[in-house]
Amino acid sequence: MILTQCAVCATELGLSLGKKCGRCSTRYCGPECQKQHWEGGGHDKLCKLIKKAGGAEQYNANEKYTEAVAVAAEACAEDTKGQTCYICTQALHWKTKEGLVRMCACRGTAGFAHVSCLAEQAKILVAEAEENNLDLKVKNERFERWCECSLCEQMYHGVVRCAMGWACWKTYVGRPETDDVRLVAMNVLAGGLHKAEHNEDALSVQEAELAMARRLGGSAEHILAVQTNLATTYEALGRPEALQVKRDVYYGYLKLQGDEYEHTLIAANNYASHLNILERFEEAKPLLLKIIPVARRVLGDNDENTIRMRWNYADALYEYPGATLDDLREAVETLEELTRTARRVLGGAHPLAVDIVHSLQKARAALAARDVEALRVGAMRV
Ligand SMILES: [Zn+2]
Ligand SMILES: [Zn+2]
Ligand SMILES: [Zn+2]
Ligand SMILES: [Zn+2]
Repeated sequence: MILTQCAVCATELGLSLGKKCGRCSTRYCGPECQKQHWEGGGHDKLCKLIKKAGGAEQYNANEKYTEAVAVAAEACAEDTKGQTCYICTQALHWKTKEGLVRMCACRGTAGFAHVSCLAEQAKILVAEAEENNLDLKVKNERFERWCECSLCEQMYHGVVRCAMGWACWKTYVGRPETDDVRLVAMNVLAGGLHKAEHNEDALSVQEAELAMARRLGGSAEHILAVQTNLATTYEALGRPEALQVKRDVYYGYLKLQGDEYEHTLIAANNYASHLNILERFEEAKPLLLKIIPVARRVLGDNDENTIRMRWNYADALYEYPGATLDDLREAVETLEELTRTARRVLGGAHPLAVDIVHSLQKARAALAARDVEALRVGAMRV
């Protein structure tokens, strides 16, 4: 359930409060809002349509999906001009008439597609894994197709990830609450909303998701995954809860899966990166020094998470007010190397590659300022 507010006055209803329209399940805080919606809010006309679509949640998902596809195609219009979809081979989608998108690491003429075509592929692959009862690992890999390009194997970003999030949610929202696929779909949606910077929306999906996971007795690992995303959203919204949740998630994974587990490493990096934001570099640096060698060994140098950790460490080095000349040099060298790696692995347009270049410019400026200072001190001695 992601519609947690009264459709008229937006009062927060959580997962169970208030009243539902008996036909279409639209939610209200009480009979007054329901009456008003019917008489003056156009619900008398919409109700049938919503019911036919499968109820309020499904209707909302369909509407949001259509909007998100239009936004994504619009954002990619320049980049996709004159191209065709690698799945259906057309420029315009035969049925929806939507335009093409591409926001991954694909380059040249590769990777242009319709969100509808990408979604259809993901849906078929997951359905096949479910029908044949393939094991969990395969199922999870198939599910990745909702957020990851099958050609370059990198996550979609920005508004394309958001459109795929709505596509995924729209596909599985009708499943029973206890169905894992529905819970994972909620997660994919929240991730997409976050990537498109719709953080208030992401937060309400994630809070509903966490409450639901706890109520249904979700696994410790699943709850940690939900909390991970929640903390990222708290951070994006500048909410103070972020640090504590990030810390809890890191120690939670450490206890559950040990220090070489991918999600333990990611959680440690998330925590360190937040310490950086709070300018608590002296706490961030030792943590990063501990996890970077493990990440390089377990995940490899080309892994996006390893790149993120090393980037955070370089940031902590040059942003620290007590940075030595050696710290600044190390930061610049690391960021130069990371710029090359990120461009090669993720593509130059990837947000992480862009952020690293930005850090490199700042680190170089800090180093140059220090050199000028050193020259001046040297000159005074003469
Ligand atoms: Zn109300
Ligand atoms: Zn209704
Ligand atoms: Zn297509
Ligand atoms: Zn790609």
